[in-house]
Amino acid sequence: MDNRGPVDFPNIVASLLTVGIVVVDRRFNVLMWNRFMELNSNFRSEDVVGHNIFDFFPELNRNWLEKKIRSCLILKTASFSSWKQRPYLFRFKPSPALSGESEFMYQDASIFPVYDANGIVQGACITIHDTTEVAEALRLLDRTMDQALDLEELNRRDGLTGLYNRKFFDEQITQEILSARRYKWPLALAMIDIDNFKDVNDNYGHVVGDAVLHGLALCLQGMLRSSDTLCRYGGEEFALILPQISPQNSNVLMERLRKAIQAMQVDASGGPVKVTISVGIASLDDSLSAGQLVVHADEALYQSKHGGRNRVTAYSEQREAVLH
Ligand code: GH3
Ligand code: MG
Ligand code: MG
Repeated sequence: MDNRGPVDFPNIVASLLTVGIVVVDRRFNVLMWNRFMELNSNFRSEDVVGHNIFDFFPELNRNWLEKKIRSCLILKTASFSSWKQRPYLFRFKPSPALSGESEFMYQDASIFPVYDANGIVQGACITIHDTTEVAEALRLLDRTMDQALDLEELNRRDGLTGLYNRKFFDEQITQEILSARRYKWPLALAMIDIDNFKDVNDNYGHVVGDAVLHGLALCLQGMLRSSDTLCRYGGEEFALILPQISPQNSNVLMERLRKAIQAMQVDASGGPVKVTISVGIASLDDSLSAGQLVVHADEALYQSKHGGRNRVTAYSEQREAVLH
């Protein structure tokens, strides 16, 4: 003969350590305060039960919670509040078992009506789930992702000028060629080389040479569209990818950049330093690979140097034929 009584559910709920359970009546007086709530608030059930919840916890967002409890009791609707929108309902310390940096316990909260055996609403039950561990893990993940992105960005950049580096250029030119072919956009590549830069270093020193490189990069970058990609290709050589530009307009643009550099001055102790640039432009056609486009732009750059420097030359097949 089994003489055990029915399972004492209220006692189980009251003893729960992993979920906070609070039941309040229509006047916000506490009807139940379980063990989780006792441990985290330092108020025992007998201290709190029978008292108005807002008297004990002034940090509760009264407007919000009153509204939620009322709609729960009158409309019999349940509601849920995520730690992502509202970090906590009760300001509790995080569990000492967590080694994170959080000052408080993140909480998910739900509020739903509690009925008696006759189906009459007795009060509102508020449950509290401690989500600090998840919140901290996500925060850490966010931070790690940010750091990874920063590192990736740093890996693409040249330290002296802040421009994209050669490695990034190699990736980007391939991408831009793919896009240009897919959308039938024109694309130009300009190679830019500072004229007689060795003389700048020899006459003013390496530090001034560096300042010239930096100033020149800033000047060029300031005159470009955000879709253009300016890279430091080598020592005093730059590669500029120009998507969606006709051969004629790329000539006009590069001529404008050349003149801007000609007019630029970099201050040095020995007086203002001026430099000029030589430019070679190549335009994409149906069959060119990235490597061939670079060869064409280099060829045109060579023409500019050969023709006396401080000039812009567009690659053309005919000249190529004459050269060889
Ligand atoms: P050209 O008109 O034919 O291009 O003549 P150039 O003197 O510019 O060309 P050259 O290749 O003979 O010399 C390039 C110089 O650029 C030599 C090198 O010391 C200098 N250079 C390369 N990178 C840097 C850098 O990061 N800082 C400084 N200050 N100088 C650099
Ligand atoms: Mg040079
Ligand atoms: Mg050079």
